[in-house]
Amino acid sequence: HAKKNKLNYQYFDTSLNEKALTSFELSNKIKEALENNEFALYYQPIYSLTENKIKSAEALLRLFSKNTSMSPDKFLPIVKDLGLINEINNWVLDNAFKQLSIWNKYKKDFSISINISFSQIYSQDFIDFTKECIKKYKINPKNIIFEITEDETLEDIDKASYILDSLKNIGIKIAIDDFGTGYSSLAYITKLPVDILKIDKSLIKDIEKEKNIEIIKAILSISKTLNFSVVAEGVETQKQLEILKNLKVEKIQGYILDPPLKAYEFETKYIKSKT
Ligand code: C2E
Ligand code: CA
Ligand code: CA
Ligand code: CA
Repeated sequence: HAKKNKLNYQYFDTSLNEKALTSFELSNKIKEALENNEFALYYQPIYSLTENKIKSAEALLRLFSKNTSMSPDKFLPIVKDLGLINEINNWVLDNAFKQLSIWNKYKKDFSISINISFSQIYSQDFIDFTKECIKKYKINPKNIIFEITEDETLEDIDKASYILDSLKNIGIKIAIDDFGTGYSSLAYITKLPVDILKIDKSLIKDIEKEKNIEIIKAILSISKTLNFSVVAEGVETQKQLEILKNLKVEKIQGYILDPPLKAYEFETKYIKSKT
């Protein structure tokens, strides 16, 4: 029996070593992926309950390396540590805009939502690169939504406001991501040029709890007064959908419709389909 225990111990020990190796390997994998272009954008539909149709999609970054896929929550901080975040951010913008230019040939009002972190908007060439891509792909800026996400950056909200104003002036729409969870959500909506609030999926998950319903009602009430449109994200069940419909939420996104899809899958299902 002692032998068996020893084997078990060794087994766990090995797996621990593998785990330790993984973060080192991860860095190499990510460098490799950047060189070999192993990133992809997936697209998740956003459904309008008021218009009964899909008029936009959120672009979500995926990394495929030797048949493993990894969440952007996990690999983006590593990309940042490697000093390669600017490169990948620009890759996302270029690819999403290219996709948008193609899809707008079929649906001219279709829009794409792109995730942008606070640190990204402060980076030197963000505005220039955005404008360059708009020109390059002949995009209508009205079809672009930037979803602003909190990251570990110390925020200079006045600077953010100045930068986002200049984007809004050319027609780009600004969404606040994960609304209802961050530390300064209320400061964002008073100081930033916001068009859309995305209600965080943690509020939707436990939507049957009275407190969550009250918070969502308050978000909807502020949105009505300040003229924001609202998207509920992470909608998974029929029950959640019913509650959101009753609350008169405008748009929903989540597994109940579809998970993020490969571009060609999204295109077949939502862009080239007749409905
Ligand atoms: P997020 O912007 O809040 O994106 C929503 C996340 O919820 C996505 O995870 C999506 O796949 C997932 N999701 C969608 N529907 C459901 C649902 O019904 N239930 C649940 N439980 N989850 C759902 P994902 O793709 O792993 O992305 C994680 C985060 O990584 C994103 O959160 C976003 O903050 C960040 N991210 C993704 N792509 C990019 C990017 O291109 N640039 C930047 N800066 N950040 C990105
Ligand atoms: Ca988002
Ligand atoms: Ca979100
Ligand atoms: Ca998030």
